[in-house]
Amino acid sequence: MAVDEAVRGQVNVREAPWYHPTGNEVALFEQCHARGLAVMLKGPTGCGKTRFIEHMAWKLGRPLITIPCHDDLAASDLIGRFLIQHNGTVWQDGPLTRAVREGAICYLDEVVEARQDTVVVLHALTDHRRLLPIDKTGETLQAAPGFQLVVSYNPGYQRMLKDLKPSTRQRFVSMDLDFPPPEQEVRIVQHESGLDEATAKGLVALAERIRQLRDRGLAEVPSTRLLIAAGALAVSGIDLREACQAAIVSPLSDEPSMVAALRDLVDATF
Ligand code: ADP
Repeated sequence: MAVDEAVRGQVNVREAPWYHPTGNEVALFEQCHARGLAVMLKGPTGCGKTRFIEHMAWKLGRPLITIPCHDDLAASDLIGRFLIQHNGTVWQDGPLTRAVREGAICYLDEVVEARQDTVVVLHALTDHRRLLPIDKTGETLQAAPGFQLVVSYNPGYQRMLKDLKPSTRQRFVSMDLDFPPPEQEVRIVQHESGLDEATAKGLVALAERIRQLRDRGLAEVPSTRLLIAAGALAVSGIDLREACQAAIVSPLSDEPSMVAALRDLVDATF
């Protein structure tokens, strides 16, 4: 994979990404940043981890480099590689190296997806020395001021198949970001979708009911992101139940009896 394909976005976040705090996470993150501590954002998919880090990068005035992790991601995708050109070979920094040089916040999304040998390259950056050895060039970089390593981790997801080594986990300060409490989730759904308060309350109540099915055969529960999608469809004129079917029920299950149970909950709510 080409290095640039590994990077979802290098954003100099200029406009404030709207973020509704659900606890003390902003102050905690600011302290971690000031002390150069690596942070693990723990929480289910779609609960606001990415929005939070975008907001914090903006608030702290740091560039944000996001790397979506997957099981093909090699250490060289993070660090860089020599490229062959007509007049010889040139070194090209990978996104992690760029972040280290520029003093950016480097956000590795779903770090558990990355191979262990790839994750290991992060270790020296989480020490107090904050170093990045680049074997291929013989350089060892000292992270620029402002550099911070942040990873996201979904605790429930594929826990049986993949997990982070304890030796990796212990290098991060961990922040738990779960779905927001109902009143706050209503405000987030309203803000992000443009939905009226009563309908947003209905969607959040529906989500609360469906989330109780987590231990009864439903592998993934509806995220704030799905509620926003349903809300946005409803705002654009799609019938509310149809919007719930398309944005909430169908993404969560293919199993006919579970789909029927979810539909019943939609009908009971609206
Ligand atoms: P994650 O990275 O945890 O998968 P995202 O950050 O992409 O989730 O969140 C999905 C969407 O939910 C965001 O795009 C945003 O619209 C909304 N969202 C969730 N939580 C919040 C929050 N606390 N403040 C603002 N928006 C939020």
